[in-house]
Amino acid sequence: MKVFTIDKDEGYSLSMIVEKSERLKRLPPYLFKEIDRQKNEVKARGVDIIDLGVGDPDIPTPQHIIDALKDAADDPVNHRYPSYSGMDDFNQAVADWYKRRFNVELDPQREVITLIGSKEGIAHIPLAFIDSGDVALVSSPGYPVYNIGVQFAGGKTYFMDLLKENRFLPDLESIPPNVAQKAKMMFLNYPNNPTSAVASDDFFQSVVLFALRHNIIVCHDAAYTEIAFDGYRPMSFLQVEGAKEVGIEFHSLSKTYNMTGWRIGFAVGNAKIIEGLGQIKSNIDSGAFQAIQVAGIAALSSGQSCVEEMRRIYAERRDILVSGLREAGLSIDVPLATFYLWVEVPEGYTSEGFTSHLLTRAGIVTTPGNGFGSAGEGYIRMALTVDKERIQEAVTRIKKVGF
Ligand SMILES: *Cc1c(COP(=O)(O)O)cnc(C)c1O
Repeated sequence: MKVFTIDKDEGYSLSMIVEKSERLKRLPPYLFKEIDRQKNEVKARGVDIIDLGVGDPDIPTPQHIIDALKDAADDPVNHRYPSYSGMDDFNQAVADWYKRRFNVELDPQREVITLIGSKEGIAHIPLAFIDSGDVALVSSPGYPVYNIGVQFAGGKTYFMDLLKENRFLPDLESIPPNVAQKAKMMFLNYPNNPTSAVASDDFFQSVVLFALRHNIIVCHDAAYTEIAFDGYRPMSFLQVEGAKEVGIEFHSLSKTYNMTGWRIGFAVGNAKIIEGLGQIKSNIDSGAFQAIQVAGIAALSSGQSCVEEMRRIYAERRDILVSGLREAGLSIDVPLATFYLWVEVPEGYTSEGFTSHLLTRAGIVTTPGNGFGSAGEGYIRMALTVDKERIQEAVTRIKKVGF
């Protein structure tokens, strides 16, 4: 066999320059780099780290959902390419769940689409509606994927600051008229990650009016509607009149059923917007594994006592952490929803400075608020994704090191 060799005398050098696209080069700087470095350093010292950094539930997926996957995985019907837009039965289960949970009517054929996790749909949707130079309104702080998706599509992001004095809702009236006029999309998320703020009926109504006035597609990320406490039940954006005219809602099984690793979510609402997202997806992916959709049907259609139990666990952790932090001298509101605490840093600290202090002195990982956007400066996010004993231990350590 003749082996191919490159004749270096011909002027080839055995190296190539791998040039990344402008799209990647223009990505915002990765703000957690320094914190990651410190985390590795603290780990290397052998410190017992309490990780309140990641928004990834520690509680396992409920057993009846796992069992549904096991059975479905054995069925050869599920080994083939799924339908792009989702199994009819899954989309029907979503529509039924929306009816039961929010009293919102959805046509499972035209107003529901299955996603490979809601992040997938959120990242892809700008490709359907944003052209080069188009403007999208994105809240800051916020889930980073909204901005990145807009950037990847060639769009420009206008950040709407979420401020404490506005209860972490964007002030739509402060958006300059020329920006509002040019905007094509808006991303919102309530209950909110990272601030844990919740939205009222009034706020969603003002969003619908604003969107109608300026012809803006509203994408509401509803990943946390089921993680709420003290009897509070967050609403769907689609419950307000006119919402389905202007927008869609992203939803995920990840947080509701502790299924972050499974990759299943969905978007619902305006049929034209869902169709646009579907067109992009059908050219990129081939749908979610059917066995996972079958498990998703089990999750949405069975009794919801597992969700009730999860709420109870997070509420207990929340109460321990909130009262502990208050005793330690931090100012903190009790969140009504999500599994995050959005904590103001004490006098004299920046977000990164306080994160670094807790990490290096107390072995506690938190997330600096500015990592979610510049308006997050002055805060850190703590996730309630470790058990209550560890949360108690975190409180003890914080009181001991002080600040
Ligand atoms: C976790 C999260 C998601 C994404 O979840 P998927 O696992 O991709 O479904 C979306 N939005 C927010 C705000 C989140 O915190």
